[in-house]
Amino acid sequence: MKLVIGHLYPRLMNIYGDRGNIISLVNRCRWRGFEAEVKEISLGDPIDPKEIDLFFFGGGQDKEQILVSKDLQGDKGQAIIEAVEKGAAFLSICGGYQLLGKYYRPHLGEDLPGLGLFDLYTIAGTLRMIGNVVIEINKDFISTNNDSLNTLVGFENHSGKTYLGSNCLPIGRVIKGFGNNGEDRFEGAVYKNAFGCYLHGPLLPKNPHFADYLIQQA
Ligand code: GLN
Repeated sequence: MKLVIGHLYPRLMNIYGDRGNIISLVNRCRWRGFEAEVKEISLGDPIDPKEIDLFFFGGGQDKEQILVSKDLQGDKGQAIIEAVEKGAAFLSICGGYQLLGKYYRPHLGEDLPGLGLFDLYTIAGTLRMIGNVVIEINKDFISTNNDSLNTLVGFENHSGKTYLGSNCLPIGRVIKGFGNNGEDRFEGAVYKNAFGCYLHGPLLPKNPHFADYLIQQA
């Protein structure tokens, strides 16, 4: 069995070591005796929705987000949406997460159009939210009887404040830290098998149970 991982914009959206999530996914597949292939998807590269089992989209600063936002419009973005609607798994972090919503409003300049995969929007705030985060996972979507799967830990560094609409669930509730916006105590977003959150760390080596959950979904 082979898992194909689509790594979106690996050279542009790669801050705080988020590529460690790719290393974790690949190794945890191989340790279980099946292959994982990483396809790098950069500016201008087409996407075949049938080819990708799991997408990864890391964090990046506003400058890179402007380039990537443009590249995600049109057929490429639609191919990602088609894959997720058909059940592909997706992990997006911070700057990547923000661009999967309806729009990201940076401090300066125009709103950046997002993919609209998640029913959410993000507005750059004046406070940069930095520090360790602990969240309790929302039982509505991870329905296992495995108690160790009930928290996620990580590190956040964002000025973007993200607000969820009615068509996507938060990943969980903040126990420590700011989370999506430092106001509603929610963190992250879930739609089908697509997850977005602010947790760097990198997330998956710090939360192997979540890495395995994503692999199972994919
Ligand atoms: N530019 C975005 C923000 O500061 C995302 C930064 C990041 O990916 N850590 O909110």
